[in-house]
Amino acid sequence: MEKTNDIKKFMREFRGFSIDDFSEITYAMVKPDAMCLFDEICQDIERRGFEVLFWQVYQLSRDLAECFYSEHKDKDFYNRLISQMTADPAGILILEKKGTVPCFQVWRGTIGSTNPEFATEGTLRHFYSQKLFGGAEAYKKGEATNCFHGADSVASVIRESNLVLYDIAMSM
Ligand code: ADP
Ligand code: MG
Repeated sequence: MEKTNDIKKFMREFRGFSIDDFSEITYAMVKPDAMCLFDEICQDIERRGFEVLFWQVYQLSRDLAECFYSEHKDKDFYNRLISQMTADPAGILILEKKGTVPCFQVWRGTIGSTNPEFATEGTLRHFYSQKLFGGAEAYKKGEATNCFHGADSVASVIRESNLVLYDIAMSM
């Protein structure tokens, strides 16, 4: 499939995806405070062997962010997470990597641990936290994000991609 930021064009393909197709793609985001490096990040992602099927720079509404992160609504970091994710546009990405390991799992390995302090060298969260914020301190203080999102299961890929892509389609 050709890389596109045209939601209508992409939705024509997306609607035809089977359950098996969802293990070959994942739902990813570049978080708003890393978007100043979005072009470089997309090139980095492609260099790491992922195909960018769809990309869009998109402002998440509060409603969408709250629905997206509903599993965390009782956590102490929830309000800050929603503020950070809605502060500025995010980079929405549908990535593809075919292979024996599900794409979501390869992407989670590529971004590294949630807390960039524990994300190993060479992972995206380690590298871009260092490059943008000088390390993990800003994340630990709640002043910066960990730069990336990755769905955590095939079910999450299905849920998150449907939720956000239909939101984008309806906004056009
Ligand atoms: P991941 O994004 O790695 O799947 P979670 O789903 O657990 O992690 O959390 C969603 C997001 O909430 C994280 O990416 C991070 O931005 C934030 N977050 C998670 N845990 C914490 C925490 N202990 N302190 C602050 N922020 C957190
Ligand atoms: Mg998660």
